[in-house]
Amino acid sequence: MKIALIAHDRMKEEIVQLAMAYESILAEHELYATGTTGGRIMDATSLKLTRFLSGPLGGDQQIGAMIAKNEMDLIIFLRDPLTSQPHEPDIIALLRLCDVHKIPFATNLGSAEIMLKALERGELAWRDVLHKENEA
Ligand code: PGA
Repeated sequence: MKIALIAHDRMKEEIVQLAMAYESILAEHELYATGTTGGRIMDATSLKLTRFLSGPLGGDQQIGAMIAKNEMDLIIFLRDPLTSQPHEPDIIALLRLCDVHKIPFATNLGSAEIMLKALERGELAWRDVLHKENEA
């Protein structure tokens, strides 16, 4: 599965804690992140991630481009609900594209943990079926 990890600045510590707690599960997948989030996770874990640009500089849009091609299987985007973001339109676009392709999207720690546990149990395997259908 291809998984994107993104967190706004005030949520960076939470995503690092999440990545540490679920490191063994995440290590089995192909991971992507926006620039700063990816750097923080790589500093704290031994996970390998593909890092895009920082979110406000276009990193969300780079992940969005993969979502548009239905290439991303799960998005964990810990959004800061109390601070306005200069790149709000990019975030909304990301959400919309996930809805277009029915891609699971977690925006807070509670839903992120449920999705990672589902991932561990193989409950996102339907995404694999979809990929195989698209290849055929
Ligand atoms: P960052 O971007 O990981 O580079 O901080 C996240 C965001 O704000 O979209």
